[in-house]
Amino acid sequence: MRHLLDTIPSDDALPASADVVVIGGGIAGASAAYWLARRGVSVALLEKGLVGAEQSSRNWGFCRKQGRDHGEIPLVRESVEMWAGMAEEIGADVGWVRSGVLFVSNDEAQLAQWERWAEYAGTQQVHSHVLGTAEVAALLPGSSQTWRGGLHTPSDGRAEPSKAVPAIAAAARRRGATIHQGCAARGIETEAGAVAMVVTEKGTIRTRTVLCAGGAWTTMFCRRHGIRLPQLSVRASVLETTAVPEVVGLNLSTPGFSCRRTLDGGYIVAMSGTGTFPITPDAFRYLGDFWPTLLARRAKLKLRLGPEFFTALFASGKWALDAASPFEAVRVLNPPPDLPLLEGGLARFKASFPAAESARIERSWGSMIETSPDAVPVIDAVPSLPGFFIATGFSGHGFGIGPAAGRLAADLLSGAPPIVDPTPFRYARMVDGSRLRPNAGL
Ligand SMILES: Cc1cc2nc3c(=O)[nH]c(=O)nc-3n(C[C@H](O)[C@H](O)[C@H](O)COP(=O)(O)OP(=O)(O)OC[C@H]3O[C@@H](n4cnc5c(N)ncnc54)[C@H](O)[C@@H]3O)c2cc1C
Repeated sequence: MRHLLDTIPSDDALPASADVVVIGGGIAGASAAYWLARRGVSVALLEKGLVGAEQSSRNWGFCRKQGRDHGEIPLVRESVEMWAGMAEEIGADVGWVRSGVLFVSNDEAQLAQWERWAEYAGTQQVHSHVLGTAEVAALLPGSSQTWRGGLHTPSDGRAEPSKAVPAIAAAARRRGATIHQGCAARGIETEAGAVAMVVTEKGTIRTRTVLCAGGAWTTMFCRRHGIRLPQLSVRASVLETTAVPEVVGLNLSTPGFSCRRTLDGGYIVAMSGTGTFPITPDAFRYLGDFWPTLLARRAKLKLRLGPEFFTALFASGKWALDAASPFEAVRVLNPPPDLPLLEGGLARFKASFPAAESARIERSWGSMIETSPDAVPVIDAVPSLPGFFIATGFSGHGFGIGPAAGRLAADLLSGAPPIVDPTPFRYARMVDGSRLRPNAGL
């Protein structure tokens, strides 16, 4: 059974020209389009499938500052407050609940690391606390497990992925953006070395500015234009349970499962950090960039050869603009979920919360998560192609930071003062030999 997704109307006719063309209707592209349209910038958003249909509606819905890379903290701090004000800003419910986020562990080294993180976060006005056994138990009265400790951020929360991105894109449309679903961007034509036109499967749009927010597809789009963007994708799996009594209200991450309450009275259940890593040409192309990450995560990753459903996603980067592109071959990336993995997670969830014993799998789905070598996104212009910007590489935590990431991209594109210092998100680090490492253990 598929995951849920609200659908929104499209604009049939492409505009002849636009100030900005946004490629990709996920949380990053939709949020950028919203902020551009709000400022009176003419913007066309292109989505090869349906707005929100890939990662942005398949995630767990955690909107957390907790455990973030230090460089991301100012942006995600803004983003969580944007989530809190989203219903008022866009005039639509996005399922926001300030539920708090709790990570738990029995590992002393992990707790010590959380302690250091929380200390730093405090200097950035993020109030997270490392809790002991009794304090964790008080937050989890329905749990049969005891934990040595945990990391808790009461001001974090969740939103509903099936609703949020369509609602943001619809709000952008009401502000004047045009939204073109079922319309893949095949590539860019240049004049004097700069962006001049976007070629789509339905015609062309003249523009001087493009934002590519194509999620897992961004590296291939960039490759066609001679732009190096190390990015790899991992297949993740999620399940939603049938309705059960509320056993935990906050968003919880344990070593064996993660969960959060849904609007329908069930739980989203999944396994943090687990996934299947398809061995593809990109895996070899970017092996050096990702080696430290692969080593750190090898215990939780399954390697898999023969990724038949990913063929288009990992196409070579060479195609003509007047013929169907790989983006048209897969309208929506919809890999099958890893059911044995999910069944194990559900069993651990039920063992941990006996009152949820009746929980069954209502639906389950797979998704490709794109990652960057340091697990921090790129939100920046690409100097080798004037007029071309990227917002991607959210590395499994782009939903929570997405509203502010889109706003930052809109700021950079329109020359407005940036919402935060954009330095941590600079593109140059991908090509200048910077030592890229994920924030270990968080
Ligand atoms: C299982 C799972 C759990 C997650 N849990 C969380 C969580 O709890 N909290 C959190 O913050 N994050 C979470 N994430 C991560 C989060 O979902 C992503 O980081 C975020 O949604 C990425 O948004 P995006 O807009 O960059 O990409 P996407 O949502 O993938 O959107 C990119 C869009 O671009 C379109 N596109 C690509 N190329 C073209 C083209 N050439 N022409 C037209 N359209 C194109 C695609 O069709 C797609 O719709 C999770 C992700 C997964 C998969």
